[in-house]
Amino acid sequence: MITKIFLSLLLVFTIVSGMSCTTSPSDDRDLMACVNILRQIETAKRTMAMGHSLENGELLTPEQVESLSTFMTGGKWSAHQCPSGGRYTVGRIGQPPSCSIHGNSKDIHIYY
Ligand SMILES: [Zn+2]
Repeated sequence: MITKIFLSLLLVFTIVSGMSCTTSPSDDRDLMACVNILRQIETAKRTMAMGHSLENGELLTPEQVESLSTFMTGGKWSAHQCPSGGRYTVGRIGQPPSCSIHGNSKDIHIYY
């Protein structure tokens, strides 16, 4: 009896965990594109922090956020949109930027 319950719980767990791992190839492409943009934002923030002597924890002004794109490929924010429609939060200096759908680049692990 206990074994039967355990096995059915195990089966449910296996099905649920199997479903959560199922992503379509286009989801994977969107995630990878988003992570690439998040990394560019992070690098642009570091470059700006060095150029403006900004300390960790400082907030960027709206003008500084706007000009971050000049350090990114394409040079415009319009060239850096999350393919899934997520919104980016640049965040403070020293903290990772994040996407409203995909999270931040530190929490996203891509396995090839
Ligand atoms: Zn995203």
